[in-house]
Amino acid sequence: MKTQFDYVDENYRRIINNVNEAKERYGRSGDSIQVMAVTKTVDADIVNHAISSCGISLLGENRVQEYLSKKDAYLPAAVHFIGGLQTNKVKYIIDSVDMIQSVDSLKLASEINRHAGRIGKIQDVLVEVNIGGEESKGGVSPEELSELIYAMAELPNIKVQGLMTIPPPHDPEKFLGRMQELYIDISEKRIDNINMSFLSMGMSGDYELAVKYGSNILRIGSALFGARIYR
Ligand SMILES: *Cc1c(COP(=O)(O)O)cnc(C)c1O
Repeated sequence: MKTQFDYVDENYRRIINNVNEAKERYGRSGDSIQVMAVTKTVDADIVNHAISSCGISLLGENRVQEYLSKKDAYLPAAVHFIGGLQTNKVKYIIDSVDMIQSVDSLKLASEINRHAGRIGKIQDVLVEVNIGGEESKGGVSPEELSELIYAMAELPNIKVQGLMTIPPPHDPEKFLGRMQELYIDISEKRIDNINMSFLSMGMSGDYELAVKYGSNILRIGSALFGARIYR
């Protein structure tokens, strides 16, 4: 009988095949594209299987409490925080995450800068963009993005490394395309102290399309671990 671990192995193989086919199809064969395992609701032993058996080297964490309860059980892997982050929770994750992908205000950026300074770290971050203007989602509006980035460039203990988004489900292709344009626009400004190295977009339902529009971090949860059971 197949175990949950076997399903993760099969899912991973399928995802990698799909990503490789998409790279081929969209002329991105030479590009390095990371597949992140999004771990929310998934037990640490299954996450560890994805690390040790599949070779996953990047985890995405959404929830501070859940991450804190699981992090000591994880095998070595890079960790990016990708969920909504309240300013009063920054102190709990600042010393253990490699990137915070969900920065969408100067208030949050300043708090990350302050805590990073306190522990002598320069924290890599991505700026989350609410590309579809959806009420329910985090992210800075496309219109306010460049002002926020110029302000963040002044903070000595954070380093902007790119952009992240969750496109609206009703028309992902249109919004993935807009996001790529925005990413290119900001890159071309060549702002001091700002890197545009990462474009994080694409989830279980749209990762192949995200490859088409220039993503280099695919954040995959349910296609790898199966449907989430919320407890
Ligand atoms: C849950 C989540 C994902 C992964 O979603 P799936 O559709 O299960 O792949 C990616 N990014 C963020 C920010 C998430 O919260």
